[in-house]
Amino acid sequence: MSKSLKILLAASEGHPFSKTGGLADVMGALPMALYEKNHDVRVILPKYRCVTDCKKAIEPIDIEFNIPVGSDSHKSRLAKSDLAEKVPVYLVGNDFFFNREGIYGTHGTDYKDNAERFIFFCRAILESCKALSFYPDVIHLNDWHTGLVPVYLKSEYAHDENFKSTRTIFSIHNLAYQGNYPADTIKLSGLPDSLFSHDGLEFYNQFSFMKGGLIYSDLLTTMSPTYSKEIMTPELGCGMEGLLKHREQDLSGILNGVDYAEWNPESDPRIIANFSATNLKGKLDCKRDLIQTFSLTVAVDTPIIGMVTRLSEQKGIDLVMDALEEMLNLGAAFVLLGTGSPEHESFFQKAMEKYAGKCGVRIKFDETLSHQIIAGSDLFMVPSRYEPCGLTQMYALKYGTIPLVRAVGGLQDTVKEYQAKTGEGSGFKFNQYEKKALIKSMNKALALYQTQSAWKNLMKNAMEENFGWPRIADQYLQIYQKALRCER
Ligand code: ADP
Repeated sequence: MSKSLKILLAASEGHPFSKTGGLADVMGALPMALYEKNHDVRVILPKYRCVTDCKKAIEPIDIEFNIPVGSDSHKSRLAKSDLAEKVPVYLVGNDFFFNREGIYGTHGTDYKDNAERFIFFCRAILESCKALSFYPDVIHLNDWHTGLVPVYLKSEYAHDENFKSTRTIFSIHNLAYQGNYPADTIKLSGLPDSLFSHDGLEFYNQFSFMKGGLIYSDLLTTMSPTYSKEIMTPELGCGMEGLLKHREQDLSGILNGVDYAEWNPESDPRIIANFSATNLKGKLDCKRDLIQTFSLTVAVDTPIIGMVTRLSEQKGIDLVMDALEEMLNLGAAFVLLGTGSPEHESFFQKAMEKYAGKCGVRIKFDETLSHQIIAGSDLFMVPSRYEPCGLTQMYALKYGTIPLVRAVGGLQDTVKEYQAKTGEGSGFKFNQYEKKALIKSMNKALALYQTQSAWKNLMKNAMEENFGWPRIADQYLQIYQKALRCER
């Protein structure tokens, strides 16, 4: 057996401490899966205000250090918690930067000083390692907020013997969010001006955190094999495609996993009745509960289409807006839980009134309701423009809620098109980003729903899919081992 590794995972959010999306779910589950493989795994996150709501014990620890951001010096205090009392989680405290109402901003607007906040966090990650005398073999960084860590390691810390063997992995959860800021951000970062160049941190005359991660990390991963190919094209490369193509040999696509301790219809405490592939009675109770929660007036055998999503362009919301009336006319009901852009929010609020009884909407972030929708719906729609991995379709599969998705990124990799001839497959997919294609696929799904035996068979296929973390953790461990073989 190869030696146990010291692994530090760093991110801007992690379940159950802070969450806006799938990144947090990954940070809550992957560390545990790595721990189960006998590695010394630790996590580091910012200590936002919401951290105190997470019902976990947060212990202050007696470690303080100062972090320069521009000409200012900011004190950081570390606190400690854990994942399942097994994986230590360090929380980087600084009231000025992190004790705020939101994580990245409020009311749909980012905080103006996010560059400063995440320069502070990137620096604090490395200073925490020093203060804790924990020098990882691998620092696994996630998304732009942590993109400067490899840059500091290869510049300011280049001669620090303690980090001599440390290698970095940078995971792209969503390439469209790049952390690009005005050119003078280089001054705030304290990095040498010479790094603000075309082959360094400069991206169309802006300072790019993401580019830092993409250039200076030893290896790169992203959230699905298909997305790893898509981001090397101009359509989805967000301007970084050339750089990614250049690093193709260092880039791997690894699907996200599902934390089946959280997302399992057989044991989920958030739903009204539990159920399994062999006993589906509870699913009907969940559907009845959903109908009641959203004050729908449809019969219990009406197919319900569910969505739990950020309301953003990426998620195909405009397509849903365009197709909603036709979907309802086809005899389906629709429920949506989401937050996001004001235009999208107001459209769905109005739709709920217009199609009262057939269309239920909640504009909020609600963990419990997300489980109830995923359990109680018949179909789960994810019509994204692009999707690095997507988690909700995988959760839906486990609950026998059939995904109807656009065939992109991780959606393409996790959902198998239903084959009428053989009865194989786990869901429905469409290609073109247009209403016609979505409705065609939906028609196919709704027609099958009428034949209960075939639908039950499809549900069984879906529920048997397995995206457990243990296997995925092995794939990350292979990448970590590969990183250790990289030259410094
Ligand atoms: P992304 O990270 O791009 O938003 P993912 O599908 O990877 O998309 O992950 C989204 C995660 O956030 C899932 O766990 C989903 O259940 C959750 N989520 C999204 N919106 C809400 C909401 N309004 N309330 C509760 N959970 C939500």
